[in-house]
Amino acid sequence: MSQQPIPDIEKIRQLNEANQALKKQQERLELIIQGTNDGIWDWNIETGQFYFSERWLNMLGYQNNDIEQSFHGWLELVHPDDLGRFLLTWTEYMEGITSHFDIEYRLKHQDGYFLWVEGKGVSSINEDGFPYRMAGANSDIHSRKMAEEKLIQTTQTAEDAVNSQKRFLSTMSHELRTPLNAIIGFSEIIKDELEEQEDTVITKDVNRIYRAGTHLLGLVNQVLDIASSDNQNLKILPSAFEIQRLLSDIQEKFTPQVTQNNIHYAFADNLGNAQLDYKRVLMAVINLLDNANKFTHQGDITLNVSKDEHCLYFKVIDTGIGIPTIQLKTIFDPFIQGDSNYNRKYEGSGLGLTISKHYAHLMGGDVSVESTLDQGSTFTLKVPIEWAPPPQQ
Ligand code: ADP
Repeated sequence: MSQQPIPDIEKIRQLNEANQALKKQQERLELIIQGTNDGIWDWNIETGQFYFSERWLNMLGYQNNDIEQSFHGWLELVHPDDLGRFLLTWTEYMEGITSHFDIEYRLKHQDGYFLWVEGKGVSSINEDGFPYRMAGANSDIHSRKMAEEKLIQTTQTAEDAVNSQKRFLSTMSHELRTPLNAIIGFSEIIKDELEEQEDTVITKDVNRIYRAGTHLLGLVNQVLDIASSDNQNLKILPSAFEIQRLLSDIQEKFTPQVTQNNIHYAFADNLGNAQLDYKRVLMAVINLLDNANKFTHQGDITLNVSKDEHCLYFKVIDTGIGIPTIQLKTIFDPFIQGDSNYNRKYEGSGLGLTISKHYAHLMGGDVSVESTLDQGSTFTLKVPIEWAPPPQQ
């Protein structure tokens, strides 16, 4: 009688356990793959056999037999513009230059468009150090890529619009300056000649032309400064000067055509010297004084100048219309005016404060404001006594 081999109970138990563990691992793997919603690929490099998971194919609108399941079939779907980059990334990984295959690229969808995916993969290496199997996943990143592209386009459009606006302003300002200089220059000559002839009537009219021309030139220069403020054309030209000379100049230049206000000057003693952009400090202060006069109908305007160890302070105090709290944040923005109605009461471009603040910043200072509606405003220009150039980038 032939004897039946006795089953090795222990071996069977171990085999069962191993099977159970494998099943569990497989389940876990499938769950993870489903959870990531990625398309899986697997390449047996030795046999050349390729596997694309159902999700890999469905992501691109294909069914199992729609495309050739091979590396060649894959390459056929890659966007022509991404093909070079794709192959380079692949080669770099295969040659051990990079530790992972990882690339964002486009694959052709069944519907004809190209879908953005992120492809990742790693390989297994045999004892001789050669890769014998490679596997990885494709994630659908199309929506993110589209949103990024839209953002780039929107930013580019906005930048183009700002640049063309600046170019326009800068060209226009240059074009306007030439004839304006002629108007100012010739009206000055005529004015001098008429004054010699003691013709007071026409002198008055020519004076008007001269003043209007100078006012317009001031505006044009401000627009030009604003237009060039972002493209580094606006350079500070520091020079050493006596602060007292600057104050005399301010008093001489601040001669409003119309004023019913009392103007006071309160300068600290021994102000000494400064090393700053003389013209720009002058313009910043004059802008503040012009505003104080414009927005004060009958009252007092005081220019108070003092200094401490590091800074010079120009305080322009008026008893005018004041500024509503809500407007205090925006009045330094370009072209913003308290009253922006077409029929507004006050002339202006909405650039004076922007310019003054910009100049102050370029010199390492600032302009601040305190104001109470119907009572008046105080604008303070603070500049360091010595301007130090910003560090080179
Ligand atoms: P503009 O004077 O040409 O309107 P600015 O940039 O100089 O432009 O000023 C912006 C706005 O700030 C003004 O339109 C006005 O509403 C307000 N403002 C400036 N200075 C004063 C002031 N001293 N008193 C009241 N409001 C002022």
